[in-house]
Amino acid sequence: IPVDPFDLVIFGGTGDLARRKILPGLYRRFLSGQMPEDARIIGAARSDHDDTEFRAMVGNAINEFVDRDKQEKATIAAFLERLSYIKVDARGEEGWKELAGKMRKGVVHAFYFSVGPSLFGDIAERLHAYGMADAESRIVVEKPFGHDLKTAQALNATLAKHFDEHQIYRIDHYLGKETVQNLMAVRFGNMLFEPLWNAQNVDHIQITVAETVGVGGRGGYYDKSGAMRDMVQNHMMQLLCLIAMEPPYAFEPDAVRDEKLKVIRALDPVDPDDIVRGQYCEDEDGPSYFDDVENPDSRTESFIALKTHISNWRWKGTPFYLRTGKRMRARTSEIAIVFKDPPHSIFGEQERQKANVLVIRLQPNEGINLRVTIKEPGPGGMRLVEVPLDMSFKEALGPEAEDIPDAYERLIMDVIRGNQTLFMRGDEVEAAWAWTDPLIDGWTDRGDRPKSYDPGSSGPEDALMLMHKDGRRWREVK
Ligand code: NAD
Repeated sequence: IPVDPFDLVIFGGTGDLARRKILPGLYRRFLSGQMPEDARIIGAARSDHDDTEFRAMVGNAINEFVDRDKQEKATIAAFLERLSYIKVDARGEEGWKELAGKMRKGVVHAFYFSVGPSLFGDIAERLHAYGMADAESRIVVEKPFGHDLKTAQALNATLAKHFDEHQIYRIDHYLGKETVQNLMAVRFGNMLFEPLWNAQNVDHIQITVAETVGVGGRGGYYDKSGAMRDMVQNHMMQLLCLIAMEPPYAFEPDAVRDEKLKVIRALDPVDPDDIVRGQYCEDEDGPSYFDDVENPDSRTESFIALKTHISNWRWKGTPFYLRTGKRMRARTSEIAIVFKDPPHSIFGEQERQKANVLVIRLQPNEGINLRVTIKEPGPGGMRLVEVPLDMSFKEALGPEAEDIPDAYERLIMDVIRGNQTLFMRGDEVEAAWAWTDPLIDGWTDRGDRPKSYDPGSSGPEDALMLMHKDGRRWREVK
């Protein structure tokens, strides 16, 4: 079903994110028929281009970032027709009047801030000054949303000067991932799981986001941020919230976000002994973290593992283990809900059943997998084995699953529809920083140095100990 007609302005329309994600994603929505024929996309950035050059640039981006079998010449041409370009200086007055003149009446107006956060305030200010911040318009802002609580509050206050909360779409693309939404469908669309979803039945929860790449060309930015700010405060916090939240009364923006906020507020501070930070060493495939960020004294972490608790009735006593890092063994993102062992084995001690584990895989191979115990086939008596009940979307749903939209394209369509359910509210972001800040201040004040770890490993040894000392173990990164 096509969304309503819209004018979408992409500030930073020539940048990396626009080229890799936003514009190819919009093309795929156009191809699927979801983007109305009279939708218009306006690239706005600092560099000098005309419409033709911008269209050529987007055409190249589609060639590069869209699957070959989705590249239909006539469709690409029709899509590029929807595009235009304006040179706009976020910090000056150039281009703004022309931009305001281009916006059509009676269609949705969306402004995507795909620029560094230092420009958010300037752009919001000028949208207002040039009459584009009306009640119907909406803005989309990218991470990083602040560097700490103070800067996040300042950013929220700046945007709030000209836009109401219901007009502000803070993107966390993890929320746009199909599996993440499926997590909610599995939890709240089945009777099976929810009664067991609590400290009485769940032993612990592990969330892993492992990357194989290093910080690459983003070293300068990354070294000021680190894994805690770059991954835990936003993406992993959102995953944790969706796992831990109470059932919202409806799948509606504030109903869901209220429940997530309660989880963040109930998070315990983390004991310094339950935090392990790491930096990758060099190997034949690449330089060390220090070389990548060109800072031999850096104490910023490229890996972090931590244990936290949620102090509420549902979760008291169930630890949540989080870990994320760069240059790890495999590119894996998953959430594992590890249930408790059955209280008694009727099959004797040798046949002790292993706990059920529900794994929500974000990548690779999106899907959900439940480990269950069954009888080993054959005449060997009552021997037990664990087998996966595997719900890989591609296998289960066939061709329909082939067409799963990328997180960005889904979220942009939600912006046009005016649905904020999968976007972070300002108070959530602030609450997440309020939990993160003391941890970062703690290790900064103590002068802690991250431990080194081998590229291709699953992080520093101490991270393994974090679970071993509790008699538990991480799932393999593979
Ligand atoms: P980029 O440096 O590739 O592009 C920046 C864009 O902003 C360019 O189009 C540039 O012309 C424009 N710009 C810069 N100064 C301007 C000014 N004064 N006036 C008008 N336009 C100006 O950056 P990017 O990687 O595309 O990232 C954009 C935003 O998205 C950043 O906030 C970044 O943190 C965030 N982000 C990026 C990624 C990614 O994968 N690239 C992922 C998540 C978040």
